Amino acid sequence: MKTIVIGCTHAGTAAVQEIMARDPQAEVTVFERRNDISFLSCGIYLYLEGVVDSLRKVFYATAQDLEKLGPNVHVKMQSDVVAIRTELKVVEVQDLTTGQMYTEPYDKIIMTTGSYPIVPTIKGVNTHGVYLCKTYDDALNIKRASFDASTIAIVGGGYIGTELSEALSRRGYKTTLINGRPHILGHYVDEDIATKIRDDLVANGVDVHDNEAVERFEPEGDGVYIHTTRGELHADLAICCVGFSPMTELVAGIVDLTKQKAIKVNNYMQTSNPDIFAAGDSAAVHFNPTNSHVYAPLATNAVRMGKIAGANVVDYGSVSYMGTQSTSALKLFGKTMATSGLTYEKAHKYFPDEADYVHLTDNYRPEFMPTTAQVYMTLVFNRKTRAIMGAQFYSEYDVSMSANLISVMIQNKNTVDELAYVDMLFNPSFDRPWNYMNLLGHAAVNKLQNGAAK
Ligand SMILES: Cc1cc2nc3c(=O)[nH]c(=O)nc-3n(C[C@H](O)[C@H](O)[C@H](O)COP(=O)(O)OP(=O)(O)OC[C@H]3O[C@@H](n4cnc5c(N)ncnc54)[C@H](O)[C@@H]3O)c2cc1C
Repeated sequence: MKTIVIGCTHAGTAAVQEIMARDPQAEVTVFERRNDISFLSCGIYLYLEGVVDSLRKVFYATAQDLEKLGPNVHVKMQSDVVAIRTELKVVEVQDLTTGQMYTEPYDKIIMTTGSYPIVPTIKGVNTHGVYLCKTYDDALNIKRASFDASTIAIVGGGYIGTELSEALSRRGYKTTLINGRPHILGHYVDEDIATKIRDDLVANGVDVHDNEAVERFEPEGDGVYIHTTRGELHADLAICCVGFSPMTELVAGIVDLTKQKAIKVNNYMQTSNPDIFAAGDSAAVHFNPTNSHVYAPLATNAVRMGKIAGANVVDYGSVSYMGTQSTSALKLFGKTMATSGLTYEKAHKYFPDEADYVHLTDNYRPEFMPTTAQVYMTLVFNRKTRAIMGAQFYSEYDVSMSANLISVMIQNKNTVDELAYVDMLFNPSFDRPWNYMNLLGHAAVNKLQNGAAK
């Protein structure tokens, strides 16, 4: 059986590795239109900040690494799959180095074509001075442009825009973050924690413009004028980070897609065409808090889905996807923001009669210790079933693993009562007799009992 993997960043790499782990003789051909594989886009901000000195260090695999996995693995770089002919069971490929077209037969396909960074429909977006931020080349272009720059504008207040603002500001650039929504990081945190993060960004020199949309870019000398709904500003360069859309033109009309054009897959990553599997940013994910399919392009989803696609191509039914809570974290000026599941704003949209929340602020460990730090927390829950729907944490203390605990609890449909009483360690170096997560559970239980958080 011959499997063709189309696209080879995280999902594609994971799929190939899993196929070969299960069947070292498997026949796998990978087509990747770029001349690199496995680029970690999350390394871009670290590179721009100077934490990572060479962008080459953020790749974790090469084509040769994959070919070493078995005698029948072939990785064709700079090779673009331009069509899938399901009636003939072949893909049409263009070798981008020669322009030559050829066909390649398949038994199974794994679509790991990923996503496009959305290019906003803003006049002037394609002009000199305006950059996107996803690929290795994007990162090098931004780096090159920033050599002579002193002012940089970031368009988009999601996690990438916020992370980049922090990194560039730390690097010494006068940085402006232009966010079209009422508050930054709207997919991840509710307004109160977003405001704390915004205040910290501002205190560290980032000029944050919430509720302000870019209407037009206008190149000017070496820089760019940015006209917004609230006025105009000038920057030496602008970077657009306004989200991603799935790259699925190849399978349009061949497999079922969601409204956002993400590929629909079952728990085994199989599409509506039994010979075509999909994983990563090209596919929709099952979002457990709403029990529905959503588009949540994250590397964590990509590697898990890729591995599961690989397993099921070799041995159908062997590994089933558990879904996701879109658990995420950011490090911003020494503080950690970590989230899992639904914000209250989103929960209220999905479940207007059931969604509820509590905020809690507490020190993570006793005040008698030489240091401690406040943890800002929000727990979102279903007031009828008492199930946990989401949580947000923000602190100087590393709260990233708290989001992982909440992720497991949402996955397992645990309640606020279980969070309140689940066994957690105590030692003054780490926490108090009641861990702050237990206390967050208690706050929710109290609210349900008394109508008050404390
Ligand atoms: C700046 C930035 C920071 C991020 N930080 C994080 C983070 O901290 N945590 C996190 O979980 N996620 C993060 N992400 C998201 C993460 O990078 C993506 O979710 C991940 O890259 C998806 O992997 P993928 O393999 O599905 O798709 P992609 O990375 O999009 O790769 C798809 C590959 O397919 C190739 N391809 C497409 N079409 C064809 C074709 N027809 N023929 C041949 N090849 C093709 C492309 O060239 C590409 O190499 C970040 C993203 C960005 C941009």
